[in-house]
Order: sequence, then structure tokens, then C-alpha cells
Amino acid sequence: MSSEQDLGITESKQHNTGEWYAEVVIKAGLANYGPDGMSGFIVTRPRGYALWEAIQQELDSKFKATGVQNAYFPMFIPESYLEREKDIVEGFDPEVAWVTHGGHDELEERLAVRPTSESIIAPYMAQWVRSHRDLPLRVNQWCSVVRWEATETKPFFRTKEFLWQEGHTAHETHDEAWDETMTRLDQYAELYEDLLAIPVLKGQKPDHDKFPGAHKTTTVEALMPDGKSVQAGTSHHLGTSFAEAFDITFSDEDEETQPAHTTSWGLSWRALGALIMTHSDDQGLVLPPTIAPEQVVVVPIWQEDTKDDVLDYADEVADDLADSGVRVELDDRDERNPGFKFNEWELKGVPVRIEIGPHEVEDDEVTIVHRPDGESITADRDDIGETIQEHFDEVYAKLYAAAEENLDDSVREADSREEILGTLGQHGGYVKAPWCGDEECEEPIKEPLAAEIVMCPFDDEETVGDDETCAICGDDATQTAYFAKNY
Ligand SMILES: [Zn+2]
Repeated sequence: MSSEQDLGITESKQHNTGEWYAEVVIKAGLANYGPDGMSGFIVTRPRGYALWEAIQQELDSKFKATGVQNAYFPMFIPESYLEREKDIVEGFDPEVAWVTHGGHDELEERLAVRPTSESIIAPYMAQWVRSHRDLPLRVNQWCSVVRWEATETKPFFRTKEFLWQEGHTAHETHDEAWDETMTRLDQYAELYEDLLAIPVLKGQKPDHDKFPGAHKTTTVEALMPDGKSVQAGTSHHLGTSFAEAFDITFSDEDEETQPAHTTSWGLSWRALGALIMTHSDDQGLVLPPTIAPEQVVVVPIWQEDTKDDVLDYADEVADDLADSGVRVELDDRDERNPGFKFNEWELKGVPVRIEIGPHEVEDDEVTIVHRPDGESITADRDDIGETIQEHFDEVYAKLYAAAEENLDDSVREADSREEILGTLGQHGGYVKAPWCGDEECEEPIKEPLAAEIVMCPFDDEETVGDDETCAICGDDATQTAYFAKNY
């Protein structure tokens, strides 16, 4: 059937990862490209948005359980606000989209479409914080931001407008701000590991790659199957630089005026890109049951003489599953054969399929099929609600194990420039090397391979030996650098 071929994925994940990824996103019904003339923008379809909502709910409840409240700020930022923090302007200026007119009238002051909101949130935090009793202050907003980068569109990975959350906090002390920074980083790691079935590496960005003005930028990095790293969420300790630029001060217990210590942290729909990229295959989308909009599809398989019995039975099984809180779809379409249905639901990423034919009806059983590897198991129909939860756990464990194996196999060591280049060129993944901390020692890797230092682990003091020298320049090493190509 030609329609079946149209439906299926034609690109290979292994050989054409970029094209394959785009095909999965489109054909699984997650997104469309934006209108002509608006390259870099995408339309997120309901099935794609449902995934984002699941991420949102999970993170939002973590935030709220740890003292964060949501707020909303304007999407436009006066130019003079951006200029108050020179580092930010230098960091973002070429990527900022500007509004110059309101209706027919030219604006007196240009308005930036927010590339991030520190410069509009900070002045209000300055108004809200007076005394140490107002601290800590924690606000988060769910919104979109715009960065006008002229690169090829890659849905959820590279788009000019993207959805994210940005949290902004102010604290009395440097250490409290550090605790906050790490709390958010840990929550991002939990999101990946417990909801998205993706193991991540936690670490800090090298000083030359931290957020402009930040004391420290921390990151969770996820390895994609094509050997590239995704910066999967960042949490910044901003020190007092923003507080000083925007007058976020408080009177301490001795009535002395002090600058607050601030943080900001963000996670975008890149998490969705990482999810799709990590688990999906040449049949289409693969999703962990934790996040799948439909966790189970029930497909009845009948002949004319068994149709009524099979459909009744399938209906009951689907009802039982729904009653026990499972997100279930019964595909009883007359006009499609079971093979077509299997392909379609595989393409859409439903993690578990239940097949019901005359044999299952007769034996009071169901056949359960795992999407990631096609494993097929016969199970009793009784207690199907409980049984299916065990299968969800198994499917999740399979996905996590595969991603973890890829990560474990992809961290390699090197101690010279040639070795770093050779290993990265041949295998991708991460190459660990002792590093002196100087940006100039990243160049000889960045130049030929477009790979960079994506992170340094936190426990450098323990991992970098006294006698270790920088793999590039031979000076004393102070950090362990993870080199990788990245998104
Ligand atoms: Zn060096």
C-alpha cells in the first residue's frame, strides 16, 4: 500500500541522523515548519505540545515544592534596560530581534524581544527586595524567547523562538545562591533521568563559556546517539554582578546595605529534542511510558466470525486499563488492517501495544508488545491494570539502559592534542583530558573539528592529579575538560 510507505520513516538514524530526526518529528505529528519567509520558526502540534506539557508539569511541581512561584513579565524589554548590563548586550546583541514601530508610529525607544529576561526581571526584584526578610526571592516564568540566529532550522534543537522556563532568584549569601544553583541543576538531572529516560552528566562550563556576567554556569549534558552532546539545561550562579547593575540590595540584620546574590536557570524544549533523538528508531518515534500521550494502544485482530467477541473483549480490556489510570487508545477502526495499525502506532511512539485476537479471548489472556525492541509477552487478562505498570517499568528500564550504555561507552580519555582530535574524529562522544583552564587551549580542537569543552566535572580537585599537565600546552592542569561536538 502506497499510503503505508508514505507514512513510514525512510531515512536511517545511523547514517542520516539529521534528516531522520526531522522526518520523525514531522511524521509522528509533533511539529510543522513555520510559514514561508519565517525560517527558524516551527508550529508545535498537539502531540508535540503534550510532551512539552508533561515536562512542564514535572518541573513545575518540583519548583513549587522547593519555594518557587511563577510570575510573568512582558515579552519586550526597553533597550536602555538591556544596556544596563553591558555584558548581556555584548553577549546577545546580534541575536536580538527589535521592535521599532507601534502601529504607524516609530517608538522613541526600541524594544527588544526578550532573548532572556534578566534585564527586565532584575529591576523589579530590586523593588521587591528591601530587607533580608524578603530573601530568598524565587520567581520562575514559562514563556518563549527569541534569538535571531541564522542557522538551519532543527525542530526543538535550533529555532529562533523557543519555549522554556527561566527561574530567577535572589539570596543573602554567596553560599545560599550556590545551593540554589545546584538544587535547580539536580532537578534538571532528575527530569532527564526519571521522566525522559536519559542519563546526563553534571558539571560546569569553562569560564570562557559561562553566561555573561555569571560567577559560574553549571550544566547538564546529554549524549545523543550521533555522538554529539546537548546542553540540556543550565543553572547560573550570577554572583553579585546583576544585583550591582540593577540595585538589588537589602539591609542585613545590622541594617547594613548589601548586594543580593542572584541565580538564574533555564530549561528549554531542547529537552524534547533530546527525548526524540535518544530513543526513536527507523520505525519512528519511541517514547518512555512516563511521558507518552498514549501509553498503550489496544489492537483487536479479528475475522468476520470472531469480530464481535474480539471487539467486546478488547473494549473491556481498554476500559479496565483506563479505570486504573492508564492512558489507553482502542484502535477498532474497521477500514485499517492490524499491520497498518501496528506501523502507525509504532511511528507515533506508543510504548506498549496490546494485541487481542480469538486466541486471547479464548484463553482469557492478552499479548503485550514492547515498542522499543518488539518483545512480545502473553499475560493473564486479570489484573491487567497492575500487569501493565510492570511492563511500563520494563520498557522504561530498557530505554534507560540503552542510553546509559551509549553514554558509558562514549567517554574516552586522551592526553595529547592528536589523541583528542583522533578519538573525537573517529568515535564522537566525550573525550576527557587534563586542561590548564586557558581558552587558547580549546582552539586547536575547536578549529579543525568544531568540538569544544562542553563541561568540566565538579570534583576537579579530586580528579586532577598534582603532576598532570594540560593535554594541549603542557602547563599544569587545573581541570578535567570534556571535549565534544555539540548541538
Ligand atoms: Zn593548556
